Parts: sequence; C-alpha cells; structure tokens
Amino acid sequence: MKTILITGVAGFLGSHLAKDLVAEGNRVIGVDNLSTGKMSNIDTLLKNDNFVFIQADASSEKWLLLDSLSDVREIYHLASPASPKYYQSASLETISINTVGTMHMLELARRTGAKMLYTSTSEAYGDPDVHPQPEHYRGNVNTWGPRACYDESKRLGEVFCYEYFHKFQVDIRVARIFNTYSAGLRSDDGRVISNFVDQALTGKDLTVYGDGMQTRSFCYADDTIRGLKLMMEKEAASGEIINIGNPTEHTILELAEYIDQLTGGNCRITFHPLPIDDPKQRRPNIEKANNLLGWEPVIDLKEGLRRMIREYRQ
Ligand code: NAD
Ligand code: UDP
Repeated sequence: MKTILITGVAGFLGSHLAKDLVAEGNRVIGVDNLSTGKMSNIDTLLKNDNFVFIQADASSEKWLLLDSLSDVREIYHLASPASPKYYQSASLETISINTVGTMHMLELARRTGAKMLYTSTSEAYGDPDVHPQPEHYRGNVNTWGPRACYDESKRLGEVFCYEYFHKFQVDIRVARIFNTYSAGLRSDDGRVISNFVDQALTGKDLTVYGDGMQTRSFCYADDTIRGLKLMMEKEAASGEIINIGNPTEHTILELAEYIDQLTGGNCRITFHPLPIDDPKQRRPNIEKANNLLGWEPVIDLKEGLRRMIREYRQ
C-alpha cells in the first residue's frame, strides 16, 4: 500500500483518479479548497478508511507541515481551475496555484523523496501554428489576454518542474492534458462538452461560439486517468513532458451535431461571439506517450458521449 497525495481531489479528474487509486489498495490523502470542486464528487471516498481529506489552499504553506505527509510516495498535483469560465474569474488564484503551489509541491517531493506528476495543459501551446502538436513545439501563447493567467502560469509551473528536476533531482513528470470529458464534469463547468450535454438534456439551445469551425480533440476521462497513472509508474517518464490526449480531431459544430443526435435530435444550435484568443485548432501528437508508456486512448468520442449522456440521464 502506497500513500499518495492528490491536490484538486474534489475536482473532475482528481476525484476520478482518487477513486481508482483507493480501489487499487492505496492510501490517498486528498487536498482541495473546493473552489471549483465539490464534496459530492468524493462523498463515497469519505466513507473509506484509506482516504483522508484536507480542505486547504494548496498554494499556501500551512498544511504542508502535517506529519501525515512524511509517508507520501507519489504526488499528483492537479489543483487549478481548468475551465476558462473559472480560471478567468479567479485569475490571480490560478496564477498562484500553478506557480507558487507547484513550487510547494516540488518542495514536498524534495523533502519526502516522492515522485511528482504535474498536470500541465495543451493550452501551453496557445493558439498553435504547428499541427498536430508534438511536445517539442514551443507554442504560440499570448501574455496579454484573458487566457494568459492559465496558459502562462501552467508554463511557468513546467519551468519550476524543470528546475527541481535538474537542480535537486526531484523525480518529476509533466502531463500536457488535452480536453478531457466524462460524467463528473459540473453541469455549470462552462467547458464545451458539459455545456452542450447539459443544454441538450434540459431542452436549451446548444451555444456554439464563433462559426464552430475551430477544432478540439476530446479524450474520455478513463483514458486520460490511465495515461496519468502510467506516467507516474513508468521510469521512462521521469523528467519528461508528455502529451495525454486523443488524437482524433473534431470541429465544435460536429460535436454539437453528435450531441444533438445522441440526445434525440431536437436541439437548436445558436451562434455566439468567439471568446478572445480562443485557439483555432488543437490535436495532440501522441507518439511520445505511445513510445514511452505504450499508451493510447481506446474510447472514441461517440462512445464516450454515449456513456456520459447515459450517466447524466440516470
Ligand atoms: P476541476 O476544476 O474540475 O478540478 C480542479 C480542482 O482543483 C477543484 O476541485 C478545485 O476546487 C481545486 N483547486 C483549485 N485551486 C485550488 C487551490 N488553490 N488549492 C486546492 N485546491 C484547488 O478541473 P479538472 O478538469 O479536474 O482539472 C484538473 C487538472 O488537470 C487541472 O490542473 C487542469 O489544469 C488540468 N487539465 C485538465 C484538463 C481537462 O480537460 N479536464 C485539460 C488540461 C489540463
Ligand atoms: N465553446 C462553445 N460553446 C460553449 C463552450 C465552449 O462553442 O458553450 C467552444 C470554445 O469557444 C472553444 C471550444 O468550444 O472553441 C472548447 O472550449 P472549452 O472551454 O471546453 O475548452 P478550451 O477552449 O479550453 O479548449
């Protein structure tokens, strides 16, 4: 049995990951400030003796002195708002958790000898002019815009990881996660799949921003979580940045049409202004994940949407 720390444990990915790791027989200490996460995501875990919840801001130092943390062998640092709606309304907190918060987690890893996985993002590529995006592409990111608080702070978080890996030999792994979905996303999360599914199931119009010709590549959460766990497990991932995403690309209009078909075909699609700096295209090159981890997604978009819609209906 390993002791594993997850920051952002009450969020979408953190709660899925914690459930998996506890089910595998590990002890999980979960930290969350409940800014976008919900206690209902972890209510089943709270009944399990192998799960401990700490309500705290992961960018503050106070809780890091807890004795229980000395046993931690692995750290998954997921805390950060991920939806543009939330990271833009809490922009300074977002910068803080991805930079100062990441540094604290790296210090904890240094002190305990734990391995650490940092969840960066495909947003590190900004509005990419190389397509699909391999890890060595340096990105096209704007410091002077509403997405910068997230994109640039995630990039600086990666720099902290680089420095701790080289200066202090902290065993670090950086996952650049591409758009991930499944049941468990808040219906008011604001990201496109949760918006469309919620709108379709409550009889509202599907709100496409811009002309809907921008693209994203959507990965089902089970595939993403499996990728993150392999990154933690495999020695080959140490000191590496690895894209974790589904390489099948769709336009946002196609996505709206799929969700309409899968929910009965009665939706109206309406068009709204495109947010500033909204990336035009995004698709991961996953050769590195394939070579180093033997990982690739197995759940395609239609199957993932079917599962998600079924769970939301229930
Ligand atoms: P989420 O918003 O559902 O979960 C984030 C969790 O972090 C929430 O429970 C929130 O309360 C918590 N949190 C935020 N700031 C905190 C702080 N200062 N201290 C403690 N807890 C804090 O988002 P998610 O989709 O689960 O994303 C998890 C991580 O994965 C994030 O770091 C995100 O940037 C990254 N990521 C996610 C995606 C995706 O598509 N889901 C894509 C790229 C990157
Ligand atoms: N989007 C949309 N309608 C919505 C929410 C989002 O058309 O109700 C678009 C958004 O403009 C972007 C894409 O869907 O082009 C993905 O948005 P999301 O916020 O899910 O993720 P991100 O932009 O961070 O990849």
